[in-house]
Amino acid sequence: MPQRLIYDAAPLRIYWETTNACDLACRHCRAEAAPEADPRELSTTEGRALLEALRGFGSPLPHLVFTGGDPLKRADLFELIDHARGLGFHVSVAPSATPLLTEAAIGELAAHGVDAISLSLDAATAERHDAIRQVPGTFERTLRAAAAARAAGLPFQVNTLVCEETADDLPRIHEIVRELGAARWSLFFLVTVGRGNVLAPVTPERAEEILSWIAGLSSARMATGRGGLVITTTEAPQIRRVVAERMKAARPGPEGAADAGSPPPPRGHATHAGGVRDGNGILFISNVGDICPSGFLELPCGNVKVDDVVAVYRDAPLFRKLRVPTEFGGRCGRCEHALVCGGSRARAWSATGDPLAEDPLCTHEPGAPAPERPSDGSSPSLGG
Ligand code: SF4
Repeated sequence: MPQRLIYDAAPLRIYWETTNACDLACRHCRAEAAPEADPRELSTTEGRALLEALRGFGSPLPHLVFTGGDPLKRADLFELIDHARGLGFHVSVAPSATPLLTEAAIGELAAHGVDAISLSLDAATAERHDAIRQVPGTFERTLRAAAAARAAGLPFQVNTLVCEETADDLPRIHEIVRELGAARWSLFFLVTVGRGNVLAPVTPERAEEILSWIAGLSSARMATGRGGLVITTTEAPQIRRVVAERMKAARPGPEGAADAGSPPPPRGHATHAGGVRDGNGILFISNVGDICPSGFLELPCGNVKVDDVVAVYRDAPLFRKLRVPTEFGGRCGRCEHALVCGGSRARAWSATGDPLAEDPLCTHEPGAPAPERPSDGSSPSLGG
């Protein structure tokens, strides 16, 4: 069956920002979280109604991610998880590494049938990580939470911020993530929204080095038939172009394969499903019920308190435009990889105010020959 690239009927993943309350104060926080919840936050009744409305996407139901803020700040979290599971959803939870994230809380998440949790690790040392999270002890608490999740049999993903301040640490963080036994490592390429504008994004050239390194790590893992850590990116769909270029270069023939454009990457490669990006396969519901293309492209197209969330995802003008990459601006609009990549719409928006503009974090010139790449995943310039 061909891989889907346009998600016009239903998203693959829905992120519900259950609250913006959080006891951390991370320097790059998209949600600009605060210790206390917004009084307009969806109530338990409204949250239950939202879950019932999301069921309208039909089968197969999208995967639900309860995010924040810190979902553990909601007293009704487990009731909402149970309701979602009862409706047939698979649920993941993205808690913050605060004193609320105890061994008991992790055990309870596992007992309530949560598929996985995510934890954040932005540096290889406590000093650097805690400086970004702005609360001492967060690094150690994250490592303890990972051990507790592993002991509870609860799969976990580690999220790592990629920006100038963290880029040199990535190889060491990769080793830690592997040693912790994570199922997945997701590298989030900074988009300067929320408090993220106090940090510096990597340059397009540095991003290219990092993406090439990630693609090499995954290729090496697959070549040896090893299972284990799956590596993905967030707000860097360019990884699909990098993977496609590697595959093309590896194929026999005078110039690699002669076909134009990039094939959908195979399962298990360093990528999300081809084509998935803000508003196309991704849907975000804010803590107050705003319906947005993603948490980093927080442009409300409706509100779940008054609008039909399924209809908004399918038919709101912005959502529809985000699914037509040939209409994107600049290089993204004329790129042979646009269908599987399409660039980060959130970064285009944060850089220019236009979510359909070119993603500036890309070195690719459409139509130009692919650059030569190392084949072993090594990247000395990453500082590893
Ligand atoms: S130019 Fe745009 S669509 Fe093409 S690879 Fe770069 S970010 Fe992706």
